[in-house]
Amino acid sequence: MPETQELFALTQNRWVWITSAAGRRAETLLKTLLTSIRATAFRLTFLPWILALTAGLALVSVNVGLDVEERLGDVRANILAKPASGQVYIAEIDAKSLEMVDRWPWPRAYYAKAIEKLNDAGVTLIAFDIDFSSRSTETEDQLLADAIDKSDATVILPTFRQRASNGQHEFVESLPIDVLQKNAFLASVNVSPDSRGQLNRYSYGTTTAGTTRPSLASMIAEVAGNIDQSFAIDQSIDPTTIPRLSFVDLINSNDLPPELRGKKILIGATAIELGDRYPMSRFGVLPGVVIQALASETLISGTNLGDLGKFPALLLSAILMLVCITTRKISSRGLIWIAFVSIFVLVGLLLLVEYLRLFTFSNVPAFFFLSVYMLSQKLLTTTTALKTSQYVNEISGLPNEAALQKIIDTSDFGYIAAARLVNFRELLVLTNRESRHDLFQNLASRFSFLAQSESIYHVDSDMIAWLVKKEYTSNIPGHFDTASALLQAPIMAQETKIKVDMTFGISSQTLDESKIASEQALASGIRWTWHDHKFDHAIGQKHDLLIELDQALEDGHLGVVYQPKWDLSANRLDGAEALVRWYHPERGIISPDIFIPLLEQAGRIDGLTYHVLQLALDDVASWSGRRPGLTCSVNISATLLADKDFVHRAIAMVEEARVDNAQIVFEVTETATMSDPERSAFALKLIQNARIRVSIDDYGTGQSTMSYLQRLPVSEIKLDQSFVKTMTTDNANRVMVKSTIKMAHALGFKIVAEGIEDQPCLELLTRYGCDIGQGWHISKPVTPDVFEAIWLDSVMEEARLSA
Ligand code: C2E
Ligand code: CA
Ligand code: CA
Repeated sequence: MPETQELFALTQNRWVWITSAAGRRAETLLKTLLTSIRATAFRLTFLPWILALTAGLALVSVNVGLDVEERLGDVRANILAKPASGQVYIAEIDAKSLEMVDRWPWPRAYYAKAIEKLNDAGVTLIAFDIDFSSRSTETEDQLLADAIDKSDATVILPTFRQRASNGQHEFVESLPIDVLQKNAFLASVNVSPDSRGQLNRYSYGTTTAGTTRPSLASMIAEVAGNIDQSFAIDQSIDPTTIPRLSFVDLINSNDLPPELRGKKILIGATAIELGDRYPMSRFGVLPGVVIQALASETLISGTNLGDLGKFPALLLSAILMLVCITTRKISSRGLIWIAFVSIFVLVGLLLLVEYLRLFTFSNVPAFFFLSVYMLSQKLLTTTTALKTSQYVNEISGLPNEAALQKIIDTSDFGYIAAARLVNFRELLVLTNRESRHDLFQNLASRFSFLAQSESIYHVDSDMIAWLVKKEYTSNIPGHFDTASALLQAPIMAQETKIKVDMTFGISSQTLDESKIASEQALASGIRWTWHDHKFDHAIGQKHDLLIELDQALEDGHLGVVYQPKWDLSANRLDGAEALVRWYHPERGIISPDIFIPLLEQAGRIDGLTYHVLQLALDDVASWSGRRPGLTCSVNISATLLADKDFVHRAIAMVEEARVDNAQIVFEVTETATMSDPERSAFALKLIQNARIRVSIDDYGTGQSTMSYLQRLPVSEIKLDQSFVKTMTTDNANRVMVKSTIKMAHALGFKIVAEGIEDQPCLELLTRYGCDIGQGWHISKPVTPDVFEAIWLDSVMEEARLSA
């Protein structure tokens, strides 16, 4: 197939091949327009990522976010909360112990006594967090030294790091006095709070002036680590579960609890008066000795996890997002969603590795990266959407007027065609936003082959437009004949079939002109017209046709024709439908499809309806002698059912006529019953009470179901022509017709089929049990004279049918 050729749709039942080089140019233009917006968007795809990664790295380097880090740590600690091991006891010098002696530092004999008692209880280790770096009395010091010497349990005494008194920058280690040191182990109790004074980390040991010393907790837990390294104190351990005994009870009691056997004891001050307190992120201010115990517990439980730091999570999430971005299939919403979920995955991952005691890492820079990414990606999507929407109609998704204008401005085009929906108000009732989207999309695809580059533009709420394909410019009348023909079959709007009526306008100059022309066509009662400057002056008076209509009513230019309705089971005439005709002196016969919508929109359809009804009543009355019981249908516009005056007057007209009310049928469309259900139900009730029958016209093209109609006083349903005409060839329509007939009968409705165009169709309908048929095959609408002459005499009608 040559590249420049495309297969286009049907004109006069023929598939035609059309070469379209000019069309290609315009198509390229439109595509460039829309894709350039999308291309910019694609180039910008990586921008949020780069921005976010920079932000994440910046966060790492300036080291902010410590607070967030700790908040999150506390949350995890809350989730993983556990009690202490019970291996370490605190013997606390509390307020109660201080009352014992009002002297501080205490006589060292107390400590000696404590060591003895604890040895008796069978403890394995006694650690002091108490300063022994200065002398007391010689006897007291000796007493304690002896106790340490005699102790079976390991005794640990603390060393402190202090600033040297001579120099500002040097540190010295202050040790316990010599006599005490002899039989004890020494361990450092130094702690180094962070920049905010909080104490959340603890070291394995310290080096002061060249001497290295393990920390107290390392000694207690018997866990060695790199002296220069620290670990996070495990704040999921509840400090209140560390068993404590008061120092005073320890030295006074004669039988210490047996659980102490084999345990380790940490002796230190908890009394507020003695100071030595530090804040922790999760627990607030705690005594130093409790923090030493917590650090020991951390080492005992093995939760002194290695810290992988801030990079792994950040890099992991950056790589993940990069992979997702380059996978073109993921939408921008999808990317935001993935970033969002990643945050939770990282939280879960950290919890898991901490729970499994593998290691720990920092999530904060990764969170920051992901959040910045989500925000900037969202911003990008919104701005792109905003840009695209400049050129797209938001209801239909078709390119809009701005897009068409851009093409008009930049390419050489032939003609601009505009099409105006005549029954737009009815469409608003029958459709919602979603189904209107479908309607316009389907309308566009039906019309697309008429247009350059196949583009149909949705220019106003009730108007579409296109650039006429070069191939058609020599035959504009043919172009619009095709366009009108395309509207014969209803258009799908989701589940609903909708009949669309349009008038067309064309101009070689501007879009506005072709829009005006489509109005002019409507106002003149014609299908399409060229833009005519003469009309521009008179365009304000689009009432032209309306004014002419008034005159036509007066002059008797509006008449009716009758189309027979055939009783299919009895095989005889049932009656007729009265259809209005305008015999215009200059323009010939004007189709009701054009002027009825105009009158409806102007709210002036009542006058015409009274006129038609009166003509029909007069005719039926005059025919009653020869054809008693002949029925006559009259079309009642949707808007009229809600008009109280109309309903009363129309009923009165029927009452006054010399016909049986039951001979008259009011045909109303489904729309009529749906736009104002309460009022129309009331009107239908009045009509029914007057014994006038009601028929639902064009059934199947609206939205109502039969069960809905069953609640209304309706006696007849009139199947729309679009199903009937095609039922012999279209399987789906045949099924629809057959089942509708069945259902209508089950619900007690009479069923009429209109649009019977051939004998097979008539026979099929008869076989399906359809009550009444109407259509060109039986007869086209005819003037009253012809109707009277041919159809009133039953002999004639039989002759005609068998002919
Ligand atoms: P409708 O009520 O659905 O009328 C049926 C239309 O189908 C008529 O067109 C009729 O001529 C046409 N028709 C009948 N049999 C066949 C067939 O076998 N094949 C085809 N293709 N067409 C067939 P018409 O007279 O042009 O009327 C068009 C519409 O104008 C009517 O549709 C009705 O909605 C409206 N209309 C006509 N007269 C009046 C009137 O007095 N008052 C109101 N309010 N509306 C009217
Ligand atoms: Ca009708
Ligand atoms: Ca109809």
